[in-house]
Amino acid sequence: MSMVASHGPKLRCALCRFALLSAVALMVAGCGSETTPELAATRMPAPMVRVRLGPPRQEAVITVQGKCQVYDLASRRLLRSEDELSGALFTVRGEGLDLDGRPLGSPHVTIVAHAGGTILVDRQPYRGNIHVVAASGKVLLVNVLNVEDYVASVVGGELYRKWHIECHKAQAIAARTYALYQMAHRSAARAYDVTDSPASSQAYKGIESETEVTREAAAATRGIVLTYDAGGTAKLFEAFYHSTCGGRTVSAWDRWPKVPRIEPLSGIPCPYCTASPHHRWSLSMGSQLLARKLRSLDSKLKGMQDVVKVWVSDRHLTPDGRVRAVWITDDRGGSWQIASKAFKKCFPDATRFLSSRFSLTLEGGNVVVHGRGYGHAIGMCQWGAQGQATKGRRAEAILHFYYPGSRLARVY
Ligand SMILES: [Zn+2]
Repeated sequence: MSMVASHGPKLRCALCRFALLSAVALMVAGCGSETTPELAATRMPAPMVRVRLGPPRQEAVITVQGKCQVYDLASRRLLRSEDELSGALFTVRGEGLDLDGRPLGSPHVTIVAHAGGTILVDRQPYRGNIHVVAASGKVLLVNVLNVEDYVASVVGGELYRKWHIECHKAQAIAARTYALYQMAHRSAARAYDVTDSPASSQAYKGIESETEVTREAAAATRGIVLTYDAGGTAKLFEAFYHSTCGGRTVSAWDRWPKVPRIEPLSGIPCPYCTASPHHRWSLSMGSQLLARKLRSLDSKLKGMQDVVKVWVSDRHLTPDGRVRAVWITDDRGGSWQIASKAFKKCFPDATRFLSSRFSLTLEGGNVVVHGRGYGHAIGMCQWGAQGQATKGRRAEAILHFYYPGSRLARVY
């Protein structure tokens, strides 16, 4: 699908976006060639990021408070001009979009609110414009907005409101770096750069998650990103982060083999996240109940009797410490290797396994899971960043700690 420029006053041209990103790449390279990165403020505009709002849906209800226009994305043609949109229903018919049951004559449009107007999707207010795209019979919504506004929202979606400003600033730089990296590396055919979900991208909730401190953190770090030295050229990298490492962050490439083996994503010991409620966690289940569940899960486990031993062998750990399989021995001397995924399924809510790094014990007839950390443990540990900030560390020092060998650069 081609995402091309439109005529409206607030519409941004997709080509301009790519031109800006090229400039970003050049400036990063320029910064990297200097001994000290140039971090002085600039007046360059921030690029626009495209954020997919939720998964594709059967229909979308959009409200615009104030005047708005609807443009075709490809032809730049004005399709509708409205004094307001109140609960407008977008659906797909054939290849095209319907608005309140009437064909719009286009498979992809952008909704532009006049200055001061706000666009609401699912009753949540968003800055910028909303692209509505017919995709395989469903409606895809994409929020297109200034990266700085996006960062101010993500920081609020990712951190607790009362956390330290230096932690907020570190998060703003990591979130901006991650977003700009995705913008520079996503295929041009895709209608978005990032999603609004922390599971696949970064937590983004539009205006709702912005606060004074998140806007301050974004403004204080405007245009600043993390880079690494790629043979004399400074390059952006995917600045992953997570809730709680539990004592050590791990290398990105052990989990995602395609990630380049670079120092900032190599993993380091972290003694700063002990205040996290997820630093250590545990789950337990009666061993008889567990055996019953395992027997019903897999016919190969039918013969399992009373559990007398549970353990995780080093052989079944991934290089970054995730458990691939657990072992169970019963009172008849039978031993079973059970895939971690199947083992987790026995517990009422598998999401309570906050990470895949755990050990097992048998205590008083219960199988106890002793877990460490929350999340993938790659890059910045958010609870650790907060721990360091409360000890007086600045955002720059926190980022250099979690992304060793990285350098800050201003890209606009
Ligand atoms: Zn940590």
